Amino acid sequence: FTTSRGSTASDIRETPRDERATTIKVDHLVKTFPLIKGALLKRRVGSVYAVDDISFDVRAGETLSIVGESGSGKSTTLLEIMAMSHDTVGEIELDGKRLKTLSRAQRRAERRNIQMVFQDPMGALDPRFTVYDIIAEPLHTLGFPRDGIEARVNELMNLVGLDPAHIDRFPGAFSGGQRQRIGIARALATNPKVLALDEPVSALDVSIQAGVINLLAELQAKLELSYLLVAHDLSVVRHISDRVAVLYLGAIVEIGDVDAVFDESRHPYTQALLSAIPIPDPTVERSRSRVVLKGDLPSPTDNEPGCRFASRCPLFQTLPEQDRARCLHETPALHGGEGVDHLVACHFR
Ligand code: ADP
Ligand code: MG
Repeated sequence: FTTSRGSTASDIRETPRDERATTIKVDHLVKTFPLIKGALLKRRVGSVYAVDDISFDVRAGETLSIVGESGSGKSTTLLEIMAMSHDTVGEIELDGKRLKTLSRAQRRAERRNIQMVFQDPMGALDPRFTVYDIIAEPLHTLGFPRDGIEARVNELMNLVGLDPAHIDRFPGAFSGGQRQRIGIARALATNPKVLALDEPVSALDVSIQAGVINLLAELQAKLELSYLLVAHDLSVVRHISDRVAVLYLGAIVEIGDVDAVFDESRHPYTQALLSAIPIPDPTVERSRSRVVLKGDLPSPTDNEPGCRFASRCPLFQTLPEQDRARCLHETPALHGGEGVDHLVACHFR
């Protein structure tokens, strides 16, 4: 991959992190789904803790990636933020405003500041609408002046590398990569501060992924966007992120600067996750030891105190009895060194 990051005149990335605006802030976010049993008489037997008390913030011009196995709560986190509901458990601040304190009309106005890009560009784009319709739709919703819409759609198509001459074509006439560019143009239509991207390149051919990743990096520098990114491919995450949060069963087990988390990972789960990355250098690949996870993924329904990873944790296996008791009965809090952007939720790391 090559990116324009650093080569452009963008100063936002030269401003220290804590001097940049906080565009999105999540505090103690929880999202449960009812656990239903019974085929005929359905009854609620408990709750699935899809997101279990997570907190993070994202600054202007920065990418925070969320990684973790399937079912760890990545999509639910993004969707909970996008929902902008009054019933959110926990606090979400968008561009400095606490969403819960806003009226319905104010929340609708705030919606322009956060937009979502989905994994499957075909599923997300209505095949019966032209590119013009698709990109213009959020502008209509926003009450954008009618006579300015076509020029804005043209501008957005240029911005994402699409030919405005194709404005009247239908999504089916475009390649996968071009369709994802349409999805990105649509997301950018309202000039948002934050993009939530759920696996934005995983449905694309490997050969065209880099083009879309590089486009996202360019757009971020140019528009000072914040990205909240869910990505499966850890080499993509490493390439595009400033910070990374590792999610396990709905909780953040490690978070911080992407280089710190990748190069000096401390949580046994992060280490296992990273050990599954194929390393291109064959000498490194051969000498590398893989951590093999044993045990089943525990159910996200038992919300008892204790470390949720203990049942699969290689470190736990090596601990003496009284230390294990701590893992089993005391929930580890995120902790880290003073002034270092790297926190880990493990009693023994
Ligand atoms: P990820 O995106 O990391 O794969 P999800 O956020 O989709 O994970 O899911 C997290 C957990 O929440 C899983 O246990 C999943 O089964 C559950 N879940 C997600 N959406 C729903 C839903 N609409 N109803 C019930 N359970 C759900
Ligand atoms: Mg998902």
